[in-house]
Amino acid sequence: SKFGKIRTCNIVPAPDRGQAECNIALLGITGSGKSALTVKFLTKRFISEYDPNLEDTYTSEEIVDQQPVLVKLMDTADQDGPVNCGRYVTWATAFLVVYSIDNRRSFEGCQQYLDAVTLHTRGIQPKPVLILVGNKLDMERYRQVSKSDGVDLASRYSCLFFEVSACLDFASVQNVFHEAVREARRE
Ligand code: GDP
Ligand code: MG
Repeated sequence: SKFGKIRTCNIVPAPDRGQAECNIALLGITGSGKSALTVKFLTKRFISEYDPNLEDTYTSEEIVDQQPVLVKLMDTADQDGPVNCGRYVTWATAFLVVYSIDNRRSFEGCQQYLDAVTLHTRGIQPKPVLILVGNKLDMERYRQVSKSDGVDLASRYSCLFFEVSACLDFASVQNVFHEAVREARRE
């Protein structure tokens, strides 16, 4: 037939099934551990020295609850709080707002980020996924932010809340990112 040759000679690409994607931005003041958490999630390893000014985007093919998803991560590096948030507020589906449990100032910084995201996504549907992350759980001895303070802040902004450590087990860190995907899927 007219199409016989085409059928035998061409490999017809599979139709694009529109792979599911989830864009996740990590926000928080310098030193809270955004890059350490990002690297831990991507490599299962804790890298202790990471250029504090480096902002980058990474991609990882993940399987969450037996379903594939292309996770894109933006590891942000703001100098002075959420002043230039245009680059991530429209890009991200989910926001991990990170503080360090041993640093009160980093916790106070989270409120600024939560306010900025809330303000800039007002009226947008679906609502962005917000997750508050208390990092450096291994620094319990030097804790300046109680767990209940974290719970309270999270409930005020309708966030999920987790305490983790970038230098302890991988599964807990992976779970935070996977929860972001699960929440995004629910919307
Ligand atoms: P960022 O500015 O938010 O990207 O923070 P970094 O990821 O660069 O981390 C800042 C500092 O905190 C670095 O010295 C890291 O080694 C350290 N750090 C990050 N996460 C943890 C953690 O979970 N526990 C401890 N003890 N140190 C951490
Ligand atoms: Mg960083």
